Amino acid sequence: LMRESYLNEKEVGFKQVKPDSGHIVIVGGAGKLGALFSQMLSLSGYQVKSLDKDDWQQAKALFSGAAMVIVSVPISLTCALIRRELSQLPADCILTDLTSVKAEPLRAMLDAHSGPVLGLHPMFGPDVGSFAKQVVVVCHGRQQDKYQWFLDQIAIWGARIEITDAKNHDEAMQLVQAMRHFSSFVYGLNLFKNNADIANLLRFSSPIYRLELAMVGRLFAQAPELYADIILAQPGNVQLMSDYLQHYQHALETLKRGDRDEFIRQFSQVSTWFGDYAPAFARESGMMLESVNDMKPR
Ligand code: NAD
Repeated sequence: LMRESYLNEKEVGFKQVKPDSGHIVIVGGAGKLGALFSQMLSLSGYQVKSLDKDDWQQAKALFSGAAMVIVSVPISLTCALIRRELSQLPADCILTDLTSVKAEPLRAMLDAHSGPVLGLHPMFGPDVGSFAKQVVVVCHGRQQDKYQWFLDQIAIWGARIEITDAKNHDEAMQLVQAMRHFSSFVYGLNLFKNNADIANLLRFSSPIYRLELAMVGRLFAQAPELYADIILAQPGNVQLMSDYLQHYQHALETLKRGDRDEFIRQFSQVSTWFGDYAPAFARESGMMLESVNDMKPR
């Protein structure tokens, strides 16, 4: 129901928190996430202009009088672009970004611009039907009082705002995103190497297995560059994946020895570590699966 009401608002528009602001420029506005923010801002009454890769000759005109500049370009270009191109913005212009990593882009924005600076990471892709219940991570930069209206606007779109510092965000992303995307990638790679017959796998998949396969398969519907960049974004990520490989190897040795008791001991150890989360996750995923059951697979 909540989702429906937000979808409705997407047709009729949203309340505008700051009606008197100047225009907003999205650098990379023709991209997937840039276009989504452009749409949401337009639906809320703001004047939005895009500055994509072939538009730099108009940069001066676009930035002149801008209330806010949102950076949404490929991760690998972000910091250099901020430092090179965004050091001459109007003094009171808000500079913000949507990059999936936060520490370095935030540093670059604070260095390039002396006015209000805000780091954002929408924890969702451009395919979401609405912002309802989605999470947007906020890393404060400078002069929060000048950009608070934009956070209020995002909240009106239905998103939940999670405030943290860039270091904590980036560390969490190593496990929440980089590690998970990489293991999904390897899972897909393994299906490919086994030349798995997906139609046949689906025949034997009740909703929970179908859902797991869908979570892996959806990765491969998206741009490889984004995942390469997320996985390579932080130097610590590769170490984390080496550790993962070691744990895999160690667990595999247990199996090779046929050491059932040791496998059970380790399983119990992890269960204990999950604690109350384990039964809570069982209940939560059970409820999710109930709604999946109501959906018709293709
Ligand atoms: P995208 O490739 O769809 O869009 C990037 C846009 O930047 C393109 O339109 C491209 O033409 C433009 N661009 C490239 N070089 C440029 C330049 N020099 N000047 C101006 N524009 C330039 O990528 P995306 O998926 O929209 O990702 C953009 C940002 O959003 C990234 O920082 C990414 O980390 C972040 N993000 C993406 C997702 C997602 O699921 N797609 C989720 C969260 C955050």
